[in-house]
Amino acid sequence: MSRDGLFELIAEAQGQLDEGFDRLPEARPAAFGAEAQRILGLAAERLRDNYPYGHPLYAGQMLKPPHPIARAAYTLAMSVNPNNHALDGGRASSAMEVEAVAALAKMFGWREHLGHLTSGGTFANLEALWIAGQLMRSADNTPKAIAASEQAHYTHSRISGVLGLPFIAVPVDHSGCMDMNALEEMVARGEIGTVVATLGTTAIGSVDPLDKILTLQQRYGFRVHVDAAYGGYFTLAKNLEREARAAYDALAQVDSIVIDPHKHGLQPYGCGCVMFRDPAVGRLYKHDSPYTYFSSKELHLGEISLECSRAGAAAVALWATQQLLPYVRDGEFARGLEAGRKAALMLHHRLTADSRFITPVSAPQLDIVFWTVQSETTEASSALAQVVFDGAAKLDLHLALAKLPVSFFPRDAWSVRPEARSYVTCLRSVLMKPEHLAWLDEIWQRLDGAAKQVL
Ligand SMILES: *Cc1c(COP(=O)(O)O)cnc(C)c1O
Repeated sequence: MSRDGLFELIAEAQGQLDEGFDRLPEARPAAFGAEAQRILGLAAERLRDNYPYGHPLYAGQMLKPPHPIARAAYTLAMSVNPNNHALDGGRASSAMEVEAVAALAKMFGWREHLGHLTSGGTFANLEALWIAGQLMRSADNTPKAIAASEQAHYTHSRISGVLGLPFIAVPVDHSGCMDMNALEEMVARGEIGTVVATLGTTAIGSVDPLDKILTLQQRYGFRVHVDAAYGGYFTLAKNLEREARAAYDALAQVDSIVIDPHKHGLQPYGCGCVMFRDPAVGRLYKHDSPYTYFSSKELHLGEISLECSRAGAAAVALWATQQLLPYVRDGEFARGLEAGRKAALMLHHRLTADSRFITPVSAPQLDIVFWTVQSETTEASSALAQVVFDGAAKLDLHLALAKLPVSFFPRDAWSVRPEARSYVTCLRSVLMKPEHLAWLDEIWQRLDGAAKQVL
């Protein structure tokens, strides 16, 4: 869609919305004059100091442009600026939030749920662990520990600190997935109340073996929270390998899930989601603020949310996007995820066949690729990765850098063997735009060009 098309679309819908209030006496907003145009021009100039996140040659960090319909719906809703804290602040947008969250729960195979949108994955995980910490306590009422893998998002250890819950990091195997032997040893000691499984780690997109974690749960009786902030939507993809598929197929049995529509769900920032399988956890949010809840007997989202004011526009944008691109296998949205995953596998295989690069033992489980540059030592590889990163950027190919464990790479990758628990700087590429597949040759040519300049 052209940008002009987008603004026409918004203008038409805006007219339709405004008609709903036509009967009111006119109350003109204060004029803001030509000065606004000058300032907006300044802002436009300032904003040019960014990587071109929306372009397929931006293939670095987790950045995916919002779908035009999300942008249009958000802009439209902004003219009302609803607050989904309470029905008084946003009746229609609260109803849309309930529907949008139900679509997410259904995608994971849940028939019942309690959930809501949040400002992002951090706050969504905070709520999930806050509930977990209240429920999972020792006989003397001290809270049991939260356990997440060494590759889990660092937010889990920080959140545990905020909530005063002990935190335990579980080692990972050579693919970056939680090590089940290590986990079993840890849960057998009885101190762990909740295991956080990450379906799609932030660094490399590894998928913890949720099905196996649930087998351990039957024996040891802990709570299972899934952080699928990044990878949740991949449950719709048909081209996952067997282990990852098994993990996603187990999602219906977990206690809580976090997913970020602002990562893979084509939404502007400010859209995370937390869901609980047992709606009865709502009682743990209980409070009795006299300020916001006297107009309706229906549920106010603020009664089941730790955040108070929240952008109703985020719910409207998500709802509209779901209408256009429903969460179904074989649908356009699912095909977009499959395209990114296919692009990641292709890039991984090209890199593996090229002796200038060192690739990890395991192929990508989702759509994130990482590799480093061939050299004698990890220190030299790290330095060269930085040089290739800079060289690629000069050719307008934007990658990312990440420090990752050497244990992800073949044992004999370096002639000077690195220490077992050391790290190497890697190039990393998150191929999360559906267009990345068609742009792969172009991406490869520029990477090749950057590598040729230094190797
Ligand atoms: C991004 C991410 C988070 C944090 O979410 P924000 O939306 O950035 O607050 C947590 N966990 C995982 C796995 C993530 O990828």
